[in-house]
Amino acid sequence: MFEVRFHGRGGQGAVMAAQALASAAFSEGNYAVAFPYFGAERRGAPVLAFTRVDSKKIYRKTQVYEPDFVVVLDDSLLEMVDVTEGLKDGGVVVVNTRKKPEELALGENIKVATVDATGVALEVLGQPITNSSILGAFAKATGAVSMDAIEKGIMDIFGNKIGMKIAEKNCRAAKAAYDRTISADGRPREKEFEKKPKWLPDVKELPIGGAGVKMETNAGMIGPGSFLENKTGGWRTFMPIVENDKCVACQLCWYFCPEGCITMVPYDNNRFKKGIAIDLDYCKGCGICAHECPTHAIEMKR
Ligand code: SF4
Ligand code: SF4
Repeated sequence: MFEVRFHGRGGQGAVMAAQALASAAFSEGNYAVAFPYFGAERRGAPVLAFTRVDSKKIYRKTQVYEPDFVVVLDDSLLEMVDVTEGLKDGGVVVVNTRKKPEELALGENIKVATVDATGVALEVLGQPITNSSILGAFAKATGAVSMDAIEKGIMDIFGNKIGMKIAEKNCRAAKAAYDRTISADGRPREKEFEKKPKWLPDVKELPIGGAGVKMETNAGMIGPGSFLENKTGGWRTFMPIVENDKCVACQLCWYFCPEGCITMVPYDNNRFKKGIAIDLDYCKGCGICAHECPTHAIEMKR
């Protein structure tokens, strides 16, 4: 048996990647299951998905706590999530990043593989959707499934959901990522993660109507205002770059920003004109502000 844990963000397709990997393993004569784990998340929030593969029937129904392989679709997660938690000795971490494997300090007795899956996806698909590219990298780094099987898995899962033509493009992205994946032995960890206690409320703690109250629990704040503890800036792939010279202070970006992280600031007292400031601790890089800006004063850059 081998077990895989995918770390991604809502909207990046980690679940489809897990399903396509299961389908790939199935096409090679194995039993396979894939399933996601979501909290009450939004687009961009960290999510998990799992694939479990065996040559025999699979009766284990739990999440994957001690994976053989870990796949990270977004390297900004490395700063927030202990992606190697429970990873077995000799296991492999496959990371979408522009860094070389030697640059990542994810732990000893493991192998680290890297590929710029976002770059590949932008080149081949024209969008930063990395779930197919990372599967090519997985095949190369682990050898647990063949590249042919990955292509079959992508055609099966992606083809059914988004059409055969786009699935074929995704196969090309996976192949390109396969060719560009490089691996190295892991090196000692540099960052230790503090384990947040899980919040299991007793009956007295349960807020009635939830949304109306703010509470401090042993796992942090909950309720309105608790988002201040979640620095969504770490979710970003693209960053808004503002040219305040072009800003006409229409406030549309401020109005539409889902994180409320834009403020209007005076930038030139002599000319009656305003600009904006963006709190990058919370800007998740969704690009809505750039889309809405009528004067193209905001550009999203990787
Ligand atoms: S990209 Fe723009 S709209 Fe999106 S969170 Fe950042 S500032 Fe707000
Ligand atoms: S939408 Fe554009 S022009 Fe309007 S306030 Fe924002 S940056 Fe300025």
